[in-house]
Amino acid sequence: MPEEEDLNFISFAAHELRGPITVIRGYLDIINEEFAGRLQGDERQLLDRLVVSSNRLSSYIDNILNVARYDRHHLKVYLLEDTVANIYASIADDMQLRASTQHRMLSINIPDDLPTVAADHGSIGEVIGNLIDNAIKYSFEGGSVTVSAEQKGDFVEVSVADNGIGMPANVVDNLFHKFYRSHRSREAVAGTGIGLYICKAFVESHGGSIIARSRENEGSVFSFTLPIYATVKDKLLEDGQLNNQLIRKGGGWIKNHAMYKG
Ligand code: ADP
Repeated sequence: MPEEEDLNFISFAAHELRGPITVIRGYLDIINEEFAGRLQGDERQLLDRLVVSSNRLSSYIDNILNVARYDRHHLKVYLLEDTVANIYASIADDMQLRASTQHRMLSINIPDDLPTVAADHGSIGEVIGNLIDNAIKYSFEGGSVTVSAEQKGDFVEVSVADNGIGMPANVVDNLFHKFYRSHRSREAVAGTGIGLYICKAFVESHGGSIIARSRENEGSVFSFTLPIYATVKDKLLEDGQLNNQLIRKGGGWIKNHAMYKG
């Protein structure tokens, strides 16, 4: 289990990695565009794997930087009126590629007509991305991953379900702690143990909550809620565009100075 000082060093290193990985992703995009349609079977597969690996590396770096920001009280969210379908659309291609290169079936069931939510587009994209990434990591080839969304009272609930390794109840209780990884996953899969910690921080900074339901050897469902925009609009305005009134369980200090900043 890493110590706090390790995280400081790692976040410093992650910061330095941000530049090169952005350059690599940029050139991969260009190669993809230039050679689209001209690549043979193996070449296409190799390029897809390169894209997936560089995107995953980039997500890990984002997680590390966000944890460091959160712990130093520098994490910001900009809550805007948005839809879950629209947020998912911006990560859809990346997620499909991640799933297909790892031989998982990814199904999306997000109705277009759900009410709008108050959400920080990028942060919620990262939350969904982390949950899908885990669903892929902790399942088997040929497995299925399903993303769905539905209205639950004043909230929209987003769920990511898999039919993977699952977890016993004692693991579920610890999932959202920083650096926590189950014994089983530590042996089987590489990881950092900060993905769910940052997911919880982001979701709670929106006034939502995140839970996991799981059965060992059967699979898991991670669900989080976001407040329906119309139900929180007045609160946010009253609060001088701060999200203080929305935060119930979180640290209470995730900054939001620009609810309507585009
Ligand atoms: P990481 O995946 O890097 O270990 P996370 O914080 O994302 O870190 O997850 C913490 C732990 O929760 C994982 O190590 C694993 O034990 C467990 N876990 C998360 N998602 C799933 C899942 N979909 N199925 C089974 N176990 C999971």
